[in-house]
Amino acid sequence: MTFEVTILGSNSAIPANGRNPTSQVLNFNERLFLIDCGEGTQMQFNRYKIRFHKINRIFISHLHGDHFFGLIGLITSYNLNHRTAPLHIYGPEGLDEVINVQLRYCSRQIDFEIVFHIFEPQNGAIVFEDMTMKVTSLSMIHRIPCSGFIFTEKFAEQNIRKEKIKQYKIPFEAIGDIKKGADLQLEDGTIIPNAELTLPPPKARSYAFCTDTLYNEEMLPHLQGVNLLYHESTFDKTRAERALETFHSTAEQAAEIARKAQVYKLIIGHFSSRYHEYDLENLLKEAQAVFPSTQLALEGYTFPIERV
Ligand SMILES: [Zn+2]
Ligand SMILES: [Zn+2]
Repeated sequence: MTFEVTILGSNSAIPANGRNPTSQVLNFNERLFLIDCGEGTQMQFNRYKIRFHKINRIFISHLHGDHFFGLIGLITSYNLNHRTAPLHIYGPEGLDEVINVQLRYCSRQIDFEIVFHIFEPQNGAIVFEDMTMKVTSLSMIHRIPCSGFIFTEKFAEQNIRKEKIKQYKIPFEAIGDIKKGADLQLEDGTIIPNAELTLPPPKARSYAFCTDTLYNEEMLPHLQGVNLLYHESTFDKTRAERALETFHSTAEQAAEIARKAQVYKLIIGHFSSRYHEYDLENLLKEAQAVFPSTQLALEGYTFPIERV
């Protein structure tokens, strides 16, 4: 089952050095979730051939422009393209107001339903959940309310052991119930316990998105063992003071969080505009010195959320 994230923007504050502000698209079994929507996100859809009509849910971390200024353009483009499917937008207080004001003064009638889900950042709070996916909030420490997100796949069912189907001639109709936990009753009345018939479901994979935050160890219990962590790294460690003043993190701090949370892999982004492409290697080395499985969240790169 596909579970991967494609980076559409990894610069902080403004578009600069050929980099766009924050946006990522998560593909979970061919369902697309958009995470933040900085200015220029639509152009990135074109560049990286993202099937953006498949996006039905958008998660906005906070109301700094580099994380949501692309949203109004995307909504109006959907309308011009005759979208009919509802669009669910999850974000902080004020997001609905900001978008609705723009739509009102543009005299723009939107022909599909926009459903805002306004929430307060809170560690572990469920933002969205269905049969296959759960999205929880993580409280960032930033200048305004800001939420990270953890996307975790859900396994409702156990795996049936194929050799047992053959051994007990399990009829097709019984398989669904066994996967849900039922025992098997044979024709002679013998009960075969469920534990003999099934294997536990694989460990759920998860992707954590932590952007625009001070170094914050309160996140650690929630990040324990995530498969892939994106953590902002606006500055290098020589600018730790500047990171503190602006409520951002250094590459070294991002790696400390990854190491302490024992995540599987780390990607770093939200780079300050002071860093040109060739400077990013320094940020990478700084993070890898603490947490070797680190990569740069470069635009156009797709990172699989791998099972471990
Ligand atoms: Zn930002
Ligand atoms: Zn911000």
